[in-house]
Amino acid sequence: MCGVFGIFGHPEAANLTYLGLHALQHRGQESAGIVTSDGSQLALFRGMGHVIDVFPPEQIARLKGDVAIGHVRYSTAGGSMLKNAQPIAVDYSRGSIAVAHNGNLTNAEALRERLEARGSIFQSTSDTEVIVHLVAISTQRAHEDRVADALSQVQGAYSLVCLTPTALIAVRDPLGIRPLCLGKLSETGTWVVASEPTSFDLIDAHYARDVEPGEMVIIDRNGLRSTRPFPDVKRHTCIFEYVYFARPDSTLDGVSVYQARKNLGRELAEEHPVEADVVIPVPDSGVPATIGYAEASGIPFELGLVRSHYVGRTFIEPRASIRHFGVRLKLNPVGAALQDKRVVVVDDSIVRGTTSRKIVKMLRDAGAREVHMRISSPPTQWPCYYGIDTPTRGELIASSHSVQEINQYITSDTLAYLSLDRMQRAVVAAQSDAHGRGSRRSLPMAHQALQTTSFCQACWTGEYPVTFVPHPRQKQMRLLDC
Ligand code: AMP
Repeated sequence: MCGVFGIFGHPEAANLTYLGLHALQHRGQESAGIVTSDGSQLALFRGMGHVIDVFPPEQIARLKGDVAIGHVRYSTAGGSMLKNAQPIAVDYSRGSIAVAHNGNLTNAEALRERLEARGSIFQSTSDTEVIVHLVAISTQRAHEDRVADALSQVQGAYSLVCLTPTALIAVRDPLGIRPLCLGKLSETGTWVVASEPTSFDLIDAHYARDVEPGEMVIIDRNGLRSTRPFPDVKRHTCIFEYVYFARPDSTLDGVSVYQARKNLGRELAEEHPVEADVVIPVPDSGVPATIGYAEASGIPFELGLVRSHYVGRTFIEPRASIRHFGVRLKLNPVGAALQDKRVVVVDDSIVRGTTSRKIVKMLRDAGAREVHMRISSPPTQWPCYYGIDTPTRGELIASSHSVQEINQYITSDTLAYLSLDRMQRAVVAAQSDAHGRGSRRSLPMAHQALQTTSFCQACWTGEYPVTFVPHPRQKQMRLLDC
């Protein structure tokens, strides 16, 4: 997962990009970077770590120009190292170009092999660099046509912002897997692009619309133009963005993430009720679903676990030794809320099972009498090839264990997952009304909306929207990198 941001035509472009990236920090904490353009030259700065640490004020001051793009990263393809940080910026025969990418390309290795055979030299192991090389060798004239030409050869997920000395180009892949939206600064009318509208709130911009799947938006001195350079295919937005990844204060493709999560909790309570004294979230991502569970079940909501905000999302740390340590660093039980209670714990997903196992133990140690685990999505059985950092299939506990076996492993009294149908229904039912407020639609309306909406839910079903066979080198690279 990653976050991207872009702004065209503002004297404080680098500063606003810094703020925009800060609001996308949840999408990646390994590295951050900004590229600016003053109309003739690009300036780049990238570093490892959180946005606030990567960019000291004097560094931002050096990024001159009124156009900028930025990126926050965690690695899904290519290792966690500075050379893989983004944006990628290059000079080539037709000028300069910079690219910031959220998503994963599924044919990157095959393309890279082809490009290397004809002489391209790669500087990183990131799949995004393939796009830059394809732009460089394109026979099209205009930058935007070269970008479209390059992207017509790649498969997989991309929400991209590209910067040329004279234009900002934003593109979303035809499946629309990762989010991308357009906003406008309220005072100056400056266009901004971001992975999530949370970036707009921080810089006083208002949300204009989502970039449509398969759409390319070009912003230059003449304003904003939109083209659709790719053949139309059925939309497959990632439903896990709503379940876990996106910020709850975002609305993506008309669906309020907060309302979707609350609906997931309500559905979970209806599908898997249990007699209990309190319902508690695994913070932070489990909070809205727990509110929904509490509302629908009538079981009081309590804060049974407190999360430290001074450690990153442990799962995102690339080294296993840190990850296990991190669960204990991250969450601490609240004895007063748990003592002698029958506790329902709501989390959004179980990946390897390590977190849940530790949480159950922590809750029992803190005095909980019973622990009932409820998960607001189905069992995660398949890896994501489109940009979510999931481990290999063998490491996903649900790929080889039944719900009952997982319950035994994590040592809960009961364990239940939300079904696929109910998950879809909950998300579709959260499509916001005309005023952008999330709601819980009536079930017949949600059913109707489901006929026209489709999601990528491959991590639960194994049905990938683009079938592909991992390239042998891709397999090898994933092993080395993970
Ligand atoms: P695990 O210990 O591997 O079962 O991890 C489960 C926890 O990781 C849950 O609390 C989820 O909220 C969280 N999680 C699920 N998917 C991801 C992801 N792709 N990146 C980071 N955290 C995740």
